Amino acid sequence: MKVRHLIGKEWTDASDGREFESRDPHDGSLLATVARGTAEDGLDAISAARKAFTEGPWSTMPPKERARIMHAVADAVDAHRDELALLETRDSGKTITQAAHAEIPRVALNLRFFADYAAMAANESYPDGNLLSYTLYPPAGVVSAISPWNAPLMLATWKTAPALAFGNTVVLKPAPQTPLTAQRFAELALEAGLPEGVLNVVHGFGGDEVAGPLTSDPRVDRITFTGSSATGIHILRAAAANHTPVSAELGGKSANIVFSDADLDVAVPQSIRAIFAGNGQVCLAGSRLLVQNSVRDEFLARFIAEAGELTIGDPKDPATFLGPLIEQRHLEKVHSYVELARLEGADVALGGSRLTDPAHAAGFYFPPTVLTGLGNHTRVAREEIFGPVVTVIGFDTEDEALAIANDSPYGLAGMLFTQNLDRAHRMAARWRAGTVWINTFFERDLRLPFGGEGISGVGREGGQYSREFFTEPRAVMLRLKSPR
Ligand code: NAD
Repeated sequence: MKVRHLIGKEWTDASDGREFESRDPHDGSLLATVARGTAEDGLDAISAARKAFTEGPWSTMPPKERARIMHAVADAVDAHRDELALLETRDSGKTITQAAHAEIPRVALNLRFFADYAAMAANESYPDGNLLSYTLYPPAGVVSAISPWNAPLMLATWKTAPALAFGNTVVLKPAPQTPLTAQRFAELALEAGLPEGVLNVVHGFGGDEVAGPLTSDPRVDRITFTGSSATGIHILRAAAANHTPVSAELGGKSANIVFSDADLDVAVPQSIRAIFAGNGQVCLAGSRLLVQNSVRDEFLARFIAEAGELTIGDPKDPATFLGPLIEQRHLEKVHSYVELARLEGADVALGGSRLTDPAHAAGFYFPPTVLTGLGNHTRVAREEIFGPVVTVIGFDTEDEALAIANDSPYGLAGMLFTQNLDRAHRMAARWRAGTVWINTFFERDLRLPFGGEGISGVGREGGQYSREFFTEPRAVMLRLKSPR
């Protein structure tokens, strides 16, 4: 397969003809050669998006007409769910169950939700005698959307759907590890009636390659980025040169707190999902597991036993719970953190090294790994590993648990298992985290703000928060001749 840029209505190779490869993390097989975008390609894509924004009709279309087209794109995603899910599974190593039943349906939901939100959201207006004051929400202009590999099309559309719904045009750059679904999505969007130039897709890398202009060109009006906290710094710096607003959804090191009054039939499986679903390659993962000491032995015995039973293997098999990690370099990073944990004094209670048996040797397979005996001050407990590795930390009191949870440079999410809802409310109010889940994990309502505190992010997206970011809210004051 060949993956090319979509610039305007043209599918193009890189301006210098260079390519890179996308490989299946399950067995290393070649999936596609991909255009390795140059800075010139990035500039061309911005020009195409600028032209489409200026010339219309997308930016001036009534929101309900945009919504009709976005629903048609969502219908196409639904109709091609299995095809998109298989592409995602092969490109990223995520399980087919997760891709087909969670992420691709969420792609369609992202489109439908923001299409309807933009068409139906109320605008404030304040009649005051013969002065009528109200707010307009014109689109910001050209949006650069830069997305990561861990939930490729779901996160790409979490950025592009609101940008499009509010009338912007977009240049999307998917992660180089996972370019396949973005290309297929763009084809489907054009077929479903999205006008040319409204969605442009370029492939490649950051720095002075294709992503350079996406963050530094003054013709870009908004940058929406999901990725690591380290890359976030580069993007914020580049954007500052033009005062370009940035929404940044970055890394996490979330605490998952289990109290002794938790229903363990809920807390154990949800805690397993919180760290091992998606192989821990999830920004929201509950990678610090804080367990009240009075229930620690019972909880851990069940947690380790159930984690040890998870099926690890070919992500195309519907029975698989954990697929491979994304690439060799990432596998080495995850493994190096387990080695570091050993040096820091950890007991490795489960897992700990790459799977090398014949069924797994060709892929980047790393098992569920449970570390005990470490404090919250260790590097393993403070840095984002982004793999199936959980650090277990004991605590005695609610205040102690909250202090440990909040003692992190990250502030993306938190999970809490207790049957004491007074305590749950108290803790949610004092938790330094963008999202708090109580007796559950991973559920979303797209109307709520999504984002992180500390080095986990800048700004919020979702519902009205996306509208504020992707538009230029404008105050209008109209003096009428006579009072109403
Ligand atoms: P990454 O930061 O390495 O890359 C993300 C994207 O940025 C890729 O498309 C990459 O090519 C691009 N990029 C890299 N350097 C760039 C530069 N200098 N200028 C412009 N673009 C550049 O992240 P990753 O490894 O792809 O993804 C994993 C990270 O993403 C983790 O830290 C994870 O926590 C985070 N993440 C956060 C959220 C969230 O919602 N907060 C969601 C998913 C993933």
